[in-house]
Amino acid sequence: MIVVMKTDAAEGEIINVQKRVRELGFKDSLIKGVERTVIAVLGGVYPELVDEFSVMDGVDTVLRVSKPYKLASREVNPYDTVVSVGDLKIGAGKGLVVMAGPCSVDTEEYVMNTARGVRDAGAHMFRGGAFKPRTSPHSFEGHGVKGLGLLAKAKAETGLQIITEVVDPRDVEVVCETADILQIGSRNGQNFSLLKEVGRTNKPVLLKRGMWATVEEWLLAAEHVLNQGNNKVILCERGIRTFETATRFTFDINAIPLVKRLSHLPIMADPSHSTGKWYLVEPVAMAAVAAGADGLLVEVHASPDHALSDGAQSLTPANFAVLMAKLRVLGEALGRPLQPAETKAPATT
Ligand code: PEP
Ligand code: MN
Repeated sequence: MIVVMKTDAAEGEIINVQKRVRELGFKDSLIKGVERTVIAVLGGVYPELVDEFSVMDGVDTVLRVSKPYKLASREVNPYDTVVSVGDLKIGAGKGLVVMAGPCSVDTEEYVMNTARGVRDAGAHMFRGGAFKPRTSPHSFEGHGVKGLGLLAKAKAETGLQIITEVVDPRDVEVVCETADILQIGSRNGQNFSLLKEVGRTNKPVLLKRGMWATVEEWLLAAEHVLNQGNNKVILCERGIRTFETATRFTFDINAIPLVKRLSHLPIMADPSHSTGKWYLVEPVAMAAVAAGADGLLVEVHASPDHALSDGAQSLTPANFAVLMAKLRVLGEALGRPLQPAETKAPATT
């Protein structure tokens, strides 16, 4: 249920509504927009509450929320959320943001060369997994804390902010020391204890769509993070399982404009995991941006043949530079140009 306050409601009237919500044993969430203030009432609300709150001073209307997700929905919050990461602003058509880097952090040489390559091509953030959730326990599961150290080194040299995955709730604290954005992978889209744990931090969270998840299940996963008080959630479409096996997953282009309609949260696209093939990455990336994605998460490796995971879908830095050049033109045409990248220039000796 949402309580929409009158445009001229006094601060005291807003506080009274919040007090009453809590007295009745519900949780409240305050959404202060430019035109109106809304109080979301969360919990098992019942119809009689609508009547009770409707007659309180300063209240304009009280509405039941039809969707099972509340905090993630546009019904509750009609204003686009913008997630800030340093000077970058993700969401609300603020301009495209591109995060690029290897699937997994491997050797120092590859990590640093890839970071320099994506920085030179104009990327905004550097990606790379130190903790890797793998379908097989026999696959490379990442260098862990040592890998975080390499990401920190890449950040120190290039100025690129870091997005990296966290897999285990017990690692959230240590990953927060290096990450500017916490990535929740597709395989953890219903790991509720992990979702809650990242919800208790104040770090931005990029929430990949579960490969098996409906849009509703995905938004409910976001709801778990939001419900803990962390409203810096960025969604990321990364492809879903269908009958098609010619590509790794099927990129659900529909989800981009649909999510924009259902939710106020920013949405990015990952054309690497959805296609599984480096030569399909560029066209799918362009389509996702044209469909409204706020940015891209792209796998790039200095030497894809030597990558310890996902080499087949990784762009070389040179191919990534071609993609960035095309995105520059597309972003301008769409009125959502690439944001300026606040990176450190290469040292000139
Ligand atoms: C990744 O980004 O490297 C990754 C493992 O992605 P996903 O969770 O989408 O499979
Ligand atoms: Mn990967």
